[in-house]
Amino acid sequence: MTGPNDIDAIRAAFQTDLAAVANEQDLQTVRDRYLGRKQGAVAALMKSMADAPPADRPAIGKSANLLKREIDLALATRKETLEASTRPAGSVDVTLPGREMPFGRRHPLTLIREQVESIFGTMGFEILQGPQVEDDYHNFEALNMPPDHPARDMQDTFYLDRPMPGVDRTASTQPATLLRTHTSGMQIRYMENHQPPVRIIAPGLVYRRDTPDLTHSPMFLQVEGLLVDDGITMADLKGTLVSFLQAFFDTDIRVMFRPSFFPYTEPSAEVFISCVFCGGDGCPVCKKTGWLEILGCGMVHPAVFEAVGYDPERYTGWAFGLGIDRVALLKHRVEDIRLFYDNDLRLLEQFPH
Ligand SMILES: [Zn+2]
Repeated sequence: MTGPNDIDAIRAAFQTDLAAVANEQDLQTVRDRYLGRKQGAVAALMKSMADAPPADRPAIGKSANLLKREIDLALATRKETLEASTRPAGSVDVTLPGREMPFGRRHPLTLIREQVESIFGTMGFEILQGPQVEDDYHNFEALNMPPDHPARDMQDTFYLDRPMPGVDRTASTQPATLLRTHTSGMQIRYMENHQPPVRIIAPGLVYRRDTPDLTHSPMFLQVEGLLVDDGITMADLKGTLVSFLQAFFDTDIRVMFRPSFFPYTEPSAEVFISCVFCGGDGCPVCKKTGWLEILGCGMVHPAVFEAVGYDPERYTGWAFGLGIDRVALLKHRVEDIRLFYDNDLRLLEQFPH
């Protein structure tokens, strides 16, 4: 006679056996004992249904099937826990949820540099990279700054193979090696090897012996621009820079050129834009002038052309130097240039990828 009592007895016996399982082999033994096709307890239960009264058979069949599923599930669960406990430490559990990897992103100064390159690229400028360790000739002398020129103030330059300040540099006969103080050396390097027309920009890191503060960093990013051809005038310079600045700041900013002095350009100018913070009304950032200085530029000095073997009677050209950090500060309204070099993720994560 088969009844609910038999089913309960099998279930209880199975629970006891399952609790005693210690390894895969035990598990297989228990599986055979209860779910084996010929000798298994559930199979025996099914067979015994034949002796039961016909009216009881459907109920017994249903219960037997439920028990079979229950045992199946319990065995599968025990199998998983057995596998987890026997897995060697350090192995991969593919069932664990994935670990999220933080995405890297480009540095805000890289994004600004790429934007500058893109705007000048569409205007047909070639983009060059140059050495950060430069020699005296390319950094100073060929740019119309002979050894006694006041513009090459030793305080500003990191010399790599020269005595420190206070020692007479001119006494040495070896040419000095230094960390470039501007990207202008790339003008010389390019013109030495190419004939006009010239249309280049050269972005890169430059170095000065400045004490870090809100607006100064001993290492910063500059981009040099140079255009040389027949009949180039200051109007070309102005048109190009105004187009660039309006594209870069993406607003109708006003641009002002003010006479200035650089040894390697004549005439020279400082370029100001209407203050991006106050729109020109005057605020603390623009010191109430309504204008922000943004770059230096001018017509290439004839002495520079002579240094590279260009005929200054035939060719004219212009050059500019723009601080990428400077425009990044203005564009993103960051107040301290040092933040760009601290690499604090709290700042960097605020910029788009
Ligand atoms: Zn302002």
